[in-house]
Amino acid sequence: MKRGSLISLTKCGLYCKQGDFYIDPWLPVPKAVVTHAHADHAYRGNDSYLVVSECEPLARIRLDPEAVVSSLDYGVETSLNGVKISFHPAGHILGSAQVRVEYKGEVWVASGDYKLTPDPTCAPFEPVKCNYFITEATFGLPVYRWTDPKVVFAEIDEW
Ligand SMILES: [Zn+2]
Repeated sequence: MKRGSLISLTKCGLYCKQGDFYIDPWLPVPKAVVTHAHADHAYRGNDSYLVVSECEPLARIRLDPEAVVSSLDYGVETSLNGVKISFHPAGHILGSAQVRVEYKGEVWVASGDYKLTPDPTCAPFEPVKCNYFITEATFGLPVYRWTDPKVVFAEIDEW
């Protein structure tokens, strides 16, 4: 395998050929590794799903009732065709995870949606060392500035 080619973009989404799985695929595939249960990441119709344990109950609500869903705890490794896969907290919502993919010493991390601000509803974002980082950036522009959650919650309480 040529260095830097472990994960590529295909018409179905991010694909790891060596492991033969997709990350957050948007078209039906045999094996989907899903970062979290939001609708633009956890699509229905895949043959099987791998998610982090905290995501599994949410994925079961989001996906077809007969969907084949298995899970791993944060930091626990599994292997597909020699490719190591693990989930690490993304701090985005309950059960959100970055996907760490390793093959022959080359490490990729696909962030999924993530948030660096502490959030009492989910595990905090965990920096993961890697050679290649695939980042989401829906609200990444500097024009997006959010009010501190403590202020928002205080305003809600006051209201
Ligand atoms: Zn999301």
